[in-house]
Amino acid sequence: MDKGELYDNFEKMEAQTLEMSQLLASMRDEMTQVLERNTQLEVENTHLRERLNELEHHNKKNKSGHGLSNLKKLYHDGFHICTEFFGSRIEGDGCMFCQAIIINGEKNDNTTN
Ligand SMILES: [Zn+2]
Repeated sequence: MDKGELYDNFEKMEAQTLEMSQLLASMRDEMTQVLERNTQLEVENTHLRERLNELEHHNKKNKSGHGLSNLKKLYHDGFHICTEFFGSRIEGDGCMFCQAIIINGEKNDNTTN
């Protein structure tokens, strides 16, 4: 190996080392991005789970709201919807127990919106 060859090899190694350190730097940047993205996704995932829980909760309430509209219809058709007299005909001006059920049901409905 003559001196010229030695210098050539040295230059090659220097170039390779430089390339390697650039590669390492860009890998580090990518890793940082991946970790940041991972954190973002974890946060997003948590939010989506919360939203999903909310929606499931709403669906349950809406189902009971749907049941309420059926009960209201039944009541307006002249039947008790209260546990005391459920299904029997309302006589007179109406039933306070039935009205309480409707009022409470509507209160719960409003909180879902
Ligand atoms: Zn009643």
